[in-house]
Amino acid sequence: MIEQMLPLPYRVIESVVENSDSVTLTLLPAGEALESFAPGQFAMVGLPGIGEVAISISGAAGKYLRHTVRDVGAVSHALAHLPVGAQLGVRGPFGTAWNPHSAVGADVLVVAGGVGLAPLRPVVTTVLGERAQYRRVIVVAGARTPPEYLFQTELDRWAQRIDVELIRTVDRPAPGWDGPVGLVTEPLASLALIGPCTFAFVCGPEPMMTATADTLTAVGVPAEQIEVSMERDMKCGVGVCGHCQLGPLLLCRDGAVVGWPVARGLLAIPEL
Ligand SMILES: Cc1cc2nc3c(=O)[nH]c(=O)nc-3n(C[C@H](O)[C@H](O)[C@H](O)COP(=O)(O)OP(=O)(O)OC[C@H]3O[C@@H](n4cnc5c(N)ncnc54)[C@H](O)[C@@H]3O)c2cc1C
Repeated sequence: MIEQMLPLPYRVIESVVENSDSVTLTLLPAGEALESFAPGQFAMVGLPGIGEVAISISGAAGKYLRHTVRDVGAVSHALAHLPVGAQLGVRGPFGTAWNPHSAVGADVLVVAGGVGLAPLRPVVTTVLGERAQYRRVIVVAGARTPPEYLFQTELDRWAQRIDVELIRTVDRPAPGWDGPVGLVTEPLASLALIGPCTFAFVCGPEPMMTATADTLTAVGVPAEQIEVSMERDMKCGVGVCGHCQLGPLLLCRDGAVVGWPVARGLLAIPEL
């Protein structure tokens, strides 16, 4: 356990601006590397004297780690502005993982709101890497406005594939936008989902996850086939400090990915 409390030094080798408030950092270990991550897991990423926050893995290859950070507060601001070459501390991997393999032979539905696409990106890349094992692959991605999508180049690539159904929705349109406007739940009705054959992976603001899961269960998707990511504030990452306790769960250990039958009641408890 003590090893998991000690950050390993990593270096920023690339910083890509995603939109007005988010960047994707590619990190390489300065020495020893963390164990490999599973999609949906997170790392505690920190800067001495500033602080440490939980950040999902938005991609990984070999020793490289990719984190997408939205600049919303002190720590995320400092991380989002790190120059190439800067050093930071990384602990992990922590938490539970998405289980895209539960959907082998069935339809995969990914529903993401805003920065929620970051932890879901590895689900999509995993499924596309073994595309023949799944039936439909549907990605519904919401953003506040068109320029605020993460991974725009990758979304364009998915849009061009005939074996991926990508639906982009925005809260507020911009000139040139001819896609849907509204909540990510709205296009779900037009997808003609076959409930028992659909496995859903959902991440975004809590009200969006609740609305999405309610919409899906109403069209017959079993609650057991819906996973959400419960990204409440976390501190230790190893299930010791109790900071992220929610009902019977320590979310850093028993989450962040939680099945809807368990998450449903817990999301009704407001964050302090
Ligand atoms: C498992 C897990 C995975 C996460 N993955 C990511 C990730 O991949 N990328 C990422 O950017 N963040 C992610 N977060 C959120 C991250 O851990 C921090 O909460 C966030 O970066 C804010 O920390 P801060 O110290 O910069 O801001 P704080 O000083 O804590 O907060 C500043 C203000 O921003 C608000 N705020 C906090 N978080 C958010 C948010 N996500 N969106 C809008 N407003 C917010 C707060 O309510 C507060 O008003 C994840 C959290 C968890 C628990």
